[in-house]
Amino acid sequence: MATTVPFNRPAIVGSEIEYVIKAIADGHSSSGGPFSERCSQLLSSELGARDVLLTTSCTDALELAALLLDLSPGDVVIVPSFTFVSTALAFVRAGAKLRFADIEPTTLGICPESVQELLDERVRAVVPVHYAGVGCKIHQVADAVGPAAEIVEDNAHGLFGTVEGRQLGSFGRFSTLSFHETKNFNCGEGGALVLNRTDDVERAHVLLDKGTNRRAFLQGQVDKYSWVDTGSSFGLSNLLAAYLLGQLQRRTEVLSRRESVWRHYHQALDGLEERGLLTRMQIPSNRTCAWHMYYVMLNTSQERRGLLDHLNDRGLHATFHYVPLHSSPAGLAATDQSNVVCPVTDDVSGRLLRLPFFNTLSLAAQDAVVEAIYSYFGVGSPIQNS
Ligand SMILES: *Cc1c(COP(=O)(O)O)cnc(C)c1O
Repeated sequence: MATTVPFNRPAIVGSEIEYVIKAIADGHSSSGGPFSERCSQLLSSELGARDVLLTTSCTDALELAALLLDLSPGDVVIVPSFTFVSTALAFVRAGAKLRFADIEPTTLGICPESVQELLDERVRAVVPVHYAGVGCKIHQVADAVGPAAEIVEDNAHGLFGTVEGRQLGSFGRFSTLSFHETKNFNCGEGGALVLNRTDDVERAHVLLDKGTNRRAFLQGQVDKYSWVDTGSSFGLSNLLAAYLLGQLQRRTEVLSRRESVWRHYHQALDGLEERGLLTRMQIPSNRTCAWHMYYVMLNTSQERRGLLDHLNDRGLHATFHYVPLHSSPAGLAATDQSNVVCPVTDDVSGRLLRLPFFNTLSLAAQDAVVEAIYSYFGVGSPIQNS
């Protein structure tokens, strides 16, 4: 087969190029520029946030969150084991120990009961992920945590998804976004820290801007600016913010396009779920998905391996996902648990398969993926019959 279908392919969806040229021509290419301001306003108003700070990555937004929490050695942060390294990395760098929570099998989000079991007075923060853009059981997690610790949502997948009508990323004290090439809205590399509490706003700007009160100076609140706190150079270039604004302005089209891709897979693969050959991704009824990806769950890890090879041999780039953090050398070194219990994570990580998924994925390419999955199981495809 000559055609190949990549797993991901970023696309221009609006005025990105025009805006980048304007940012260069206007001469403001460093952080804190007019395009950054427009992205920040758009995101703040959509999410109902106190402020949104654009950062160089989601990883850096998590670093900022960890700094704002003033973590010290002896503190503990609970993360799902089934996530990307970045969810945990910042907290370890800030001196905290990790505890790995399991996920629950419906949304693959952090399991509230698992969090409950790991909580004690040393826990300072819990970091849920809205996997694949499906809201986790965030209300139950918040109830379990109570006022004892902070919630930081790693919302790299879930921008514009909702749980019971409320935006993902609006539940925690902080949430973080990613605009990496592989995410729904991208500018190459980029991220944001979403602030849901007014009293974090001023300090967050100081930490973003190398520990200086430059923002207060620019706003005329102090007559000179100086070094007042810790921090780093976390701000996103105005050039990348220009790219990002072009993407964010087309959010309705992007989401609806991705929803169509999602629904086409979901419908086409129904016949295999009916035969008990695989299980499709689920979206519980009180949620709207952010349509970040489409995955299926095979019955065994051997079948996942077999189907993955079958698709890749045909140039169809499906892929597995996270290797559990509690099985990684650095994850094990960072935990204070003598025994990590994550049975759902161990099971799911071996059986999950993500299918090619991006805005411009054609119906023909999707059908090629679907047909290849049916052929792997030796079942006639609904597409050939239609
Ligand atoms: C992509 C991703 C990140 C990291 O995002 P960057 O912008 O590349 O730093 C963090 N957490 C999750 C869950 C992700 O998927």
